[in-house]
Amino acid sequence: MRKDRCAVDSNTQKDTSAHDNYKRRINYLRLSITDRCNLRCFYCMPEQGVKQLRHKEILRYEELLRLIRIFTGIGINKIRITGGEPLVRKGVVDFIKDVSQIEGVNDLSLTTNGMLLEKMARDLFDAGVKRINVSLDSLKKEKYYDITRSGSLSQVLAGLKKAQEVGFSPIKVNAVVIRGVNDDEVIDFAKMTEEHPFSIRFIEYMQIGEKSKWDKKLFVSSSEIKSRIEEYSKLELVDKTDKSSPSTDYKIPGAKGTLGFISPLSEHFCMLCNRLRLTADGKLRNCLFSENEIDLKEALRLNDDDEAVSQIIRAAICAKPEGYEKIEKDSSKKRSMHTIGG
Ligand code: SAM
Ligand code: SF4
Repeated sequence: MRKDRCAVDSNTQKDTSAHDNYKRRINYLRLSITDRCNLRCFYCMPEQGVKQLRHKEILRYEELLRLIRIFTGIGINKIRITGGEPLVRKGVVDFIKDVSQIEGVNDLSLTTNGMLLEKMARDLFDAGVKRINVSLDSLKKEKYYDITRSGSLSQVLAGLKKAQEVGFSPIKVNAVVIRGVNDDEVIDFAKMTEEHPFSIRFIEYMQIGEKSKWDKKLFVSSSEIKSRIEEYSKLELVDKTDKSSPSTDYKIPGAKGTLGFISPLSEHFCMLCNRLRLTADGKLRNCLFSENEIDLKEALRLNDDDEAVSQIIRAAICAKPEGYEKIEKDSSKKRSMHTIGG
């Protein structure tokens, strides 16, 4: 670890913030709690599914809770629960309740495909998640089914309605825009914000995953999406409340919700990146685009004490790559997004 530049101020009682070698403060952990999913989105998972991890390969809830305590000890205060589909893992509500009670977790959120949201929204909210992201790539019933290869649009919309009733705020709706698939719907998504207080965020389609169907021809940049929406309405820039958010947000004048553009490919936001990711099988990733993984499950199961595990995490933070351009990308080895968590 290069202590001269990469400081984790664990020696001061008050400031536990972790910074990487490029002075970025790292305070956000995205936790994939399962590799399983009840959908098969064509850009994320093969149709027949994937070989599932065995039970013992997945971190147990008590292992995850121990890790979160260690992470908070080095300044992580924002946790997002993701998957696969996090709501299919048995015991997730109790797990979330336990996470919400960990000192130092100030911001607990969840990313879901929304299929089980209607029936779980109340329990999730009561367990302590107040912010939710729902992935929704089409507002047309058949197309939604085709993209997800089994999903029910009405079920997701019912989940969103319930999330609103229960009091989640903000409710973010994430749509990956793919040319020839759903790019004809960007204005329909924009119109949705006129009626509902949702933050609709358009995400550029990324080349991630071993069996990725990504092709340059399918890629639609944020600037193209924005121009298309501007043919429908003028957009007003919205001030960023969270400076580390990768989304640039706008609003149709008078609309209840906002429109965000997330541009991982056309405008890398690496210098704002404050994230770490933990896969369901306990591998820590310090960059979405890098194949580098640090095995925390092994450290936990080898009975390393908390301080030793903490040192491993600090070293991973220090080693966080500077940015997208500096990473050697080898798509042949890439994990699918369903195992990373998005
Ligand atoms: N199953 C949950 C869901 O769909 O919200 C959580 C996990 S999913 C992997 C997280 C997010 O990653 C989803 O919004 C999904 O659309 C996005 N995603 C998956 N593959 C992607 C890709 N190649 N490019 C951009 N986003 C992708
Ligand atoms: Fe499942 Fe989410 Fe991947 Fe779709 S994007 S297959 S819902 S993990």
